[in-house]
Amino acid sequence: MTAYDELMAFTRDSCALGEVAGRLGWDQETMMPRGAAEQRAEEMSAMSAMLHARRTDPRVGTWLSQAEAHGAVEAAQLRLIQRSYDRAVKIPETLARDIAGETSRGQGIWAEARANDDVAAFLPALKRIIALQREKAACLAESEGPDALYDALLLDYEPGTTSAQITAMFDALRPGLVSLRERIMAAPRPEGLSGHFDETQQMAMSEQIAQAFGYDMTRGRVDKSVHPFSSGSGTDVRITTRTDPSDPFNCLYSTIHEVGHAAYEQGIDAAYALTPLGAGVSMGVHESQSRIYENQLGRSVPFTGWLFGQLRDRFGDIGIETPEAFGRAVNTLRKGYIRTEADEVQYNLHVMLRYDLERALIGGTLEVEDLEDAWNTRFEADFGYKVDKPSNGVLQDVHWSFGLFGYFPTYTLGNVYAGCLNVAMRKAVPDLDADLAQGDPSKALAWLRENIQQHGGLYEPVDLITRATGAAPDVAPLLSYLEDKFTALYDL
Ligand code: ZN
Repeated sequence: MTAYDELMAFTRDSCALGEVAGRLGWDQETMMPRGAAEQRAEEMSAMSAMLHARRTDPRVGTWLSQAEAHGAVEAAQLRLIQRSYDRAVKIPETLARDIAGETSRGQGIWAEARANDDVAAFLPALKRIIALQREKAACLAESEGPDALYDALLLDYEPGTTSAQITAMFDALRPGLVSLRERIMAAPRPEGLSGHFDETQQMAMSEQIAQAFGYDMTRGRVDKSVHPFSSGSGTDVRITTRTDPSDPFNCLYSTIHEVGHAAYEQGIDAAYALTPLGAGVSMGVHESQSRIYENQLGRSVPFTGWLFGQLRDRFGDIGIETPEAFGRAVNTLRKGYIRTEADEVQYNLHVMLRYDLERALIGGTLEVEDLEDAWNTRFEADFGYKVDKPSNGVLQDVHWSFGLFGYFPTYTLGNVYAGCLNVAMRKAVPDLDADLAQGDPSKALAWLRENIQQHGGLYEPVDLITRATGAAPDVAPLLSYLEDKFTALYDL
């Protein structure tokens, strides 16, 4: 065997074990008995220590120094393995183990604190998690300066992008979003849905829509969880959704969103399975797929016209009489506290708030004790009303309890990428609206599969978007898409 073959055989086993660890995470959110949390934390930290030991195995370093790549695919595999190795060897095994145990435990502590609206109960765990993340970042940091630690963490989610680039992008996005929100909020409020929406029917409908959006149920499954998510890669890619008897949109659009993530994983070239190329290339690109499925396709006026008929067939009277009014109901802007329930216009403002706060936490300019005040002050400044309770404020998101610092900005990055991809996709599929009016997004999905999904980790994120769209990522397409859509919907 050549050094390349030996390295790939070893890496393949590491990838397989990584999938096993991921499935434990899926189980924790869907099936695990509540009393198992402490034991699961130990299991997760043992898995994590084992994976860390494999990633830093000295043989990997030796193989990397000897391996030769034949062709672009092998070169990309080596590039990704080298990157992972270079990062992993900088983190001591005890630190990797502490992070895994603390974040697995932190999640349970956060869930209980959120249920009781008790910030103080979460702060000690959050303090430990942040200290560990800062320690990890210090091991990895490649530069000096106020954002060096944060940039080091960001690389795990969005290789090739710095916080300076993200800050510039957010600054360019914010004024347009704020002005559009003000104009929509001043327009007459649309009607809302009414009625009771049977939850079994909702799940049946969400499976139907998941399949219409290209989700292969022979290689996936749909379960329920508090926070919908997708996990896995290759031939086992699972999603979760949630139901609310008074609001079928919650289930439908959570499903379409997670199908976007899952279809990306399912769409990757099968030859890359269980290798570093066999997973979505970054969180930002991942989110671009989920958001374009959910918003540019699923919340488009032609598609909601079709959906209106489907909902009436299934549930009878839904309190809305016309497809036009239904389109506005799907695309309503409301006052609200919760990021995951926010509309396309306000969503990114929620992300910007978290981005600035977590950068300050990791940079050391904001103390954990002052986080709640900082959140509430910033929220009121951005949204114009006060946070009423911690579960609607600083305790609403799971991310920080998992130690995910540097993750939030990838949501907005994904929206920006989706805006860019939408322009190119519509150019390639000129009759898309006619298909969407029949509930058929298949030509758009084929374009996304061809230009984004199949490549897995072959190209770096920005290169991938640039190849697909013919231009470097920019906020302008997202802003003009939102402006055009909401101006027409609300007659602004
Ligand atoms: Zn997502």
